[in-house]
Amino acid sequence: ENNLVEVKNLKKYYPIKSGVLQKVTGHVKAVDDVSFNIAKGKCFGLVGESGCGKTTIGRTMMRLHDVTAGDVSVDGNDIFKMKNEALRRFRPQMQMIFQDPYSSLSPRMPVGEIIAEAVREHNIVPNNELRSYVLKMMDDCGLQRHHIDRYPHEFSGGQRQRICIARSLALKPKFVVADEPVSALDVSIQAQIINLMIDLQHEYDLTYLFISHDLSVVEHISDNIGIMYLGSLVEFGPKDQVFSKPKHPYTKALFSAVPSTDLDKKKDRIILQGDIPSPANPPSGCKFHTRCPSAMPECSHIAPVEKMITPEHGVSCHLWK
Ligand code: SF4
Repeated sequence: ENNLVEVKNLKKYYPIKSGVLQKVTGHVKAVDDVSFNIAKGKCFGLVGESGCGKTTIGRTMMRLHDVTAGDVSVDGNDIFKMKNEALRRFRPQMQMIFQDPYSSLSPRMPVGEIIAEAVREHNIVPNNELRSYVLKMMDDCGLQRHHIDRYPHEFSGGQRQRICIARSLALKPKFVVADEPVSALDVSIQAQIINLMIDLQHEYDLTYLFISHDLSVVEHISDNIGIMYLGSLVEFGPKDQVFSKPKHPYTKALFSAVPSTDLDKKKDRIILQGDIPSPANPPSGCKFHTRCPSAMPECSHIAPVEKMITPEHGVSCHLWK
């Protein structure tokens, strides 16, 4: 398959400093050797509880902070090797949508200017076409043309997220990272924004990394999904395979917690023991062994390696050898 995005052995460690001299005494392994690909025009959903590293992956890929190790390529461009000017020129091609649309919108700029400013900065269209281009972006994102001179505070949360999407889309990106883009919105609005993102994905041939803790949202929009636990990708594969036949005990526990309206599908809820361990001091062997209902003696000292169950469905767990 034609991959637009390739992530190889990505690591992001944060130093833990202590004492007056701020000596580095260890590292928080926020992202610990994660690899995955996203085919062109597809959506990869990254799922996990808060603190599992999924947001750090998105931000690191966007180069919003430094990487510790690994490679990310977007449309054949090696993201971590780009120097400042090359990165600036490449920026429009990869865009990020955040959870809180309000904080990323300037309160003193009307919506038309918010979109136009980004377009102008990157010379996306000639100046004489700017206004009609902005209006088209507003149309495509479900914003009303006559609201072009309104300010962010005059819009609802869902409309503000539409403004953020329009601003990103106006830069003609190929790849969009959406980090919990609907988590702050009312449930009734969430589906509208997700459906908008799906429509735009097809219309503009976009490739998505969709980060969320909400399984039902991820199931709706994703083609492939990845499950994260304590900085590691523990299972990944085509959505249908992973949802219908989850292999990793953690994935099974996560899925069992989703309320099902379908009585036939009703599964017993798996309650995990204990809290998520600190990523500053993760368990040895399989990081999930302290909470895993299927743990075996070897799990506490041997880290499982990735095993492919089908050509596309992989899992890291000693139950699958
Ligand atoms: Fe559970 Fe062992 Fe599999 Fe880890 S490797 S998920 S502890 S069975």
